[in-house]
Formats: sequence, C-alpha cells, structure tokens
Amino acid sequence: MQEPSVSRALVTPGEELGVEEEYLPGDNAYVDSGYVKSMVLGIAEWDRVNHVVNVKPLKLSLIRPGQIVYGKVYYFPSDKVAMVRIFAVQQQDGVRRIQAETGILYVTYASEERLGTIYDAVGLGDLIKARVLSSKPPYHISLRGPSLGVVETKCPQCRAVIVPSSTSGKITCPVCGFVFRRKAAPS
Ligand SMILES: [Zn+2]
Repeated sequence: MQEPSVSRALVTPGEELGVEEEYLPGDNAYVDSGYVKSMVLGIAEWDRVNHVVNVKPLKLSLIRPGQIVYGKVYYFPSDKVAMVRIFAVQQQDGVRRIQAETGILYVTYASEERLGTIYDAVGLGDLIKARVLSSKPPYHISLRGPSLGVVETKCPQCRAVIVPSSTSGKITCPVCGFVFRRKAAPS
C-alpha cells in the first residue's frame, strides 16, 4: 500500500510542524528558528508531494440555537432583511466576546408585531440583543420577546446615542425630539 500523500493532525498556535528543509510554510504557518510552526489552532495538512504544510483554522463556534447573542447591524440587503455582526454570546457567567459571526434578521422575526419594513425594528449601527434560531452561519436570529431588540441606537437626525428605556415601538430623541421606530429592548 502506498503512503498517503497528505496527512492531517490538530495543532495549536506555535506548535512545530516540521523543519524548514522539509516543508514550506503554507497557509497559517510561519518559519521560526528553522522550524515551521502553526499560527493558529487548526488542522495541519502535510503535503508530502509538494513539501508544504497548510493549517486550516478551526472554528470553535460558541453559537447555538436558543442562545442569546449581541450584535451590530451593518447592512440591509433589502428593506426586509438586516445583516448583523454577532460579537458576543450570553453565558451563565456573563457576556463573552467571540470571534465575529454573521447573523441575519428577517422582518418577520424582528418583532412580535407585523412590521412593514426592517427599518421599523433596527437601524444601521444599532446594538441588538437577539436569540439564535439556526445552527450554522449565517445565523438566523430573532428579536421576538420582551427582553430582545435594540439595546443601543443613534438618533437618525442628530446622531445622539440613545439607550431605549421602554419596549414601546417608538423612540423619542432626548436631544432633538425626533421620533423614530425601533424594536427596543430596555436594559
Ligand atoms: Zn436627535
């Protein structure tokens, strides 16, 4: 039987993957004092034919369905959908920062109420608290529930930072008096 040309193993950051004379550093690998080492936690692949070692970063996602997460709205692909950068998860011992993941919020899940557009629930740059609905990225998220929604927003008119104080769908800017709609989660 022929030896397979590629072998794999789980490696940690800084772990030696071989000597410089034998392997070239590929993806996520570097040379340090004659040794090829891994930059990341991941799966190393030694390619014996091309004499190169690559490391595929391991993504240990902490996001699970039902979990409460925090994220920032960064893009609206349409007036029914918001894209959210999820950056923290709520755990038993508090809120933990994570490597950013993509969340997707459909207008149907943006409120218990029937909304015309996603802009009635969230605005660009809003900090939101949401529940995860799916198990793979992009994670579908929901703002349905009294404790879920926008926890920090900016007045569309004067850009004042506002922390909503009630679940009412309307927010009045304390600085300029402008009234706008949000699915708010008072903290
Ligand atoms: Zn204002």
